[in-house]
Amino acid sequence: MTATSAWCTSTPNLLGFFRFSITGDSGFLAMFSTIAPDGTRDTRVGDDVSTERCIELVRTALGCAPDHPVEIENVQQWSASAVTAESLSSGRVFLAGDAAHVMPPTGGFGGNTGVADAHNLAWKLALVTKGLAGPGLLASYDEERRPAGALTVEQAYTRYVLRVDPSLPQDDLQPPLDDASIELGAVYRSGAVLGEADVATPLDDPRGHSWAPGTRVPHVPLSAGRSTLDVPATVSRS
Ligand SMILES: Cc1cc2nc3c(=O)[nH]c(=O)nc-3n(C[C@H](O)[C@H](O)[C@H](O)COP(=O)(O)OP(=O)(O)OC[C@H]3O[C@@H](n4cnc5c(N)ncnc54)[C@H](O)[C@@H]3O)c2cc1C
Repeated sequence: MTATSAWCTSTPNLLGFFRFSITGDSGFLAMFSTIAPDGTRDTRVGDDVSTERCIELVRTALGCAPDHPVEIENVQQWSASAVTAESLSSGRVFLAGDAAHVMPPTGGFGGNTGVADAHNLAWKLALVTKGLAGPGLLASYDEERRPAGALTVEQAYTRYVLRVDPSLPQDDLQPPLDDASIELGAVYRSGAVLGEADVATPLDDPRGHSWAPGTRVPHVPLSAGRSTLDVPATVSRS
């Protein structure tokens, strides 16, 4: 995964964000909407992606001089969607990442949620294919990750409506939850979790020390600068 830095740009004329590589030699401007002088937001930015129009958008987002040199290398269109698959597994097929859930980039959750899917599935596949666990363990992938993905999709959508397009209906909007808890605080309930998590909210604060079943092991400093999070889990056949 390439390390990046994000830079939100909100001018009277447009809403979007820049994303630059840490080395600073590549990046892109993602556009959410343009804003007309009367305040009307237009999310159909992709209707005109001519080079002249893209240069104008980059200059506006940068807030630079109208003759500032800008070169457009590539333009890609994307649509903000908020959808979770009805099931993350069918037989030997498992969905992870954007195949399992797509969400608006507001919050920066999409890639992280996909990594969490793979993290959840990888060790289960390893144990089952090595014969150290029965195939029932794989059922817990959908049980654990689908609710977590659906919650994250709703949170990204909430942020999209509140930050980008407040004209969208807000009647059934989920209240915004804490970013770190969304990314690291899933509370898993499945056949693979022994005991109920004594956590009232749908998420556990990863900065806390609940140690509840189905939550992430908290960070506790160990000797030699290590953390409980660095200690590898080991499983062997008894
Ligand atoms: C503008 C924008 C900003 C974002 N910002 C963030 C952010 O800040 N933080 C964050 O966590 N997430 C962010 N995301 C979301 C993130 O980019 C995606 O969630 C993530 O890339 C999904 O990874 P993936 O591997 O599941 O799918 P993809 O990255 O889509 O990878 C799928 C790959 O499969 C390939 N493929 C497709 N079909 C086939 C086929 N038939 N055969 C072979 N290969 C195939 C595709 O070419 C592609 O390379 C952002 C998304 C957008 C659009």
